[in-house]
Amino acid sequence: MDQSSSSLLLDIDGLVVDRVVRNDAGRRVVHCSTDPQLAGWCPECGEQSKSPKAWVTTRPRDVRLGEDKPILLWRKRKWRCQVDSCERKVFTECLPEQIPARARITTRARRLAAEAIGDHTRPVSGVAAEFGMDWRIAHDAFVAHSAAVLPDAPPPVTVLGVDETRRGKAHYETDPTTGEKTWVDRFDTGLVDLSGNGGLFAQVNGRTSKVLIEWLQAQDPDWLATITHISMDTSATYARAARLALPNAVVVVDRFHLVALANKAVTDYRRELAWALRGRRGRKCDPEWAQRNRLLRAVETLTPDELAKVREAMRRADPSGGLEKCWQGKELLRKLLKLAGTNPDRGQIFNALTAFYLHCADSEISQLRRLAWTVHAWQNSIIAGLHTGISNGRTEGYNRIVKHIGRIAFGFRNQDNQKRRIRYACTRKSRASTSSAKPCQL
Ligand SMILES: [Zn+2]
Repeated sequence: MDQSSSSLLLDIDGLVVDRVVRNDAGRRVVHCSTDPQLAGWCPECGEQSKSPKAWVTTRPRDVRLGEDKPILLWRKRKWRCQVDSCERKVFTECLPEQIPARARITTRARRLAAEAIGDHTRPVSGVAAEFGMDWRIAHDAFVAHSAAVLPDAPPPVTVLGVDETRRGKAHYETDPTTGEKTWVDRFDTGLVDLSGNGGLFAQVNGRTSKVLIEWLQAQDPDWLATITHISMDTSATYARAARLALPNAVVVVDRFHLVALANKAVTDYRRELAWALRGRRGRKCDPEWAQRNRLLRAVETLTPDELAKVREAMRRADPSGGLEKCWQGKELLRKLLKLAGTNPDRGQIFNALTAFYLHCADSEISQLRRLAWTVHAWQNSIIAGLHTGISNGRTEGYNRIVKHIGRIAFGFRNQDNQKRRIRYACTRKSRASTSSAKPCQL
């Protein structure tokens, strides 16, 4: 193999491979030197020197080549600058792009480590071990990489989704001075671009209206003015924040959260029934317990056989018909919510709403009545959701990524690190769509 082929195999621009040997430990040692065309140029004045001073050898760490990582031995020169007016009297050869001055790791090794952490959602410790770096070096590489690719300002958003995520496990914390134990359950509020590719573009510590208002008010008024809708679950605190900080945006309540509330009503009733009938929790031998998952499934996804089993179980468990009424209430609410995105007219919505309210009022079941009150309190936001078809489903998807990132890192002690990792993982689409992203400078 001639010299240029071996240099091409190493593939570091400006580095010429002189020879490759195997040392006593069996590792390949790549002896390199600087490309003669690049050697001797002063970085300060830009003039070429003809006065070499000394030889130095460095061992920049690089990426894996083949099964292991060869040792790079770069023999390079120190030069005297021959321009009298130049302040730089002596300089050492370097490759600013590939192996900058004083760098002990090649730029490409840093970039690949940063991508492994960010794009392949791997733990920093695992990547650091693979690349033979210190944890801090791998972490810094990711910080620099994300600073270059993540935009500073939030993306333009017309439909904003807000939702809470639990940060870490709820636990007791002991005050170091008083020894007092307090129950700590921390939450973050995630802000998601539901209309475009902006992903989960910001996270705010806490889930109160105050923190959300403060974050929104700190943004550019022109950016706020572009938000026409804000989607959320039935959270009074977020609704308050929307009213105060985004008075012109329409609040849309997420229909999947409403289905979850309806399912909860059915489950609560079923559990109460088990205690009232048998004085204990439900068991496998109880008909309604055996059908508990099918009770929560959408009726149209049940086969006729399964539906017959569900109805039979409800009749056997509760001959008074309470459980069946609860289940029908859930299905009536689903029927209303299924109008979302179908361009329903006012009559259709009115009919579906009235059928649901009348059923809940007639049933005299406390769980159904509570559900009806919630629907009533959020009626305008629900109707807005039916007209626009907006749902917070994407936000829920990001919550899964947030939890995944937390797990692979075995929890975060530093919240800035956590936010950076989450934002990077949850804004992939926007980065893929904006190819004009700033080049990574490490
Ligand atoms: Zn110079």
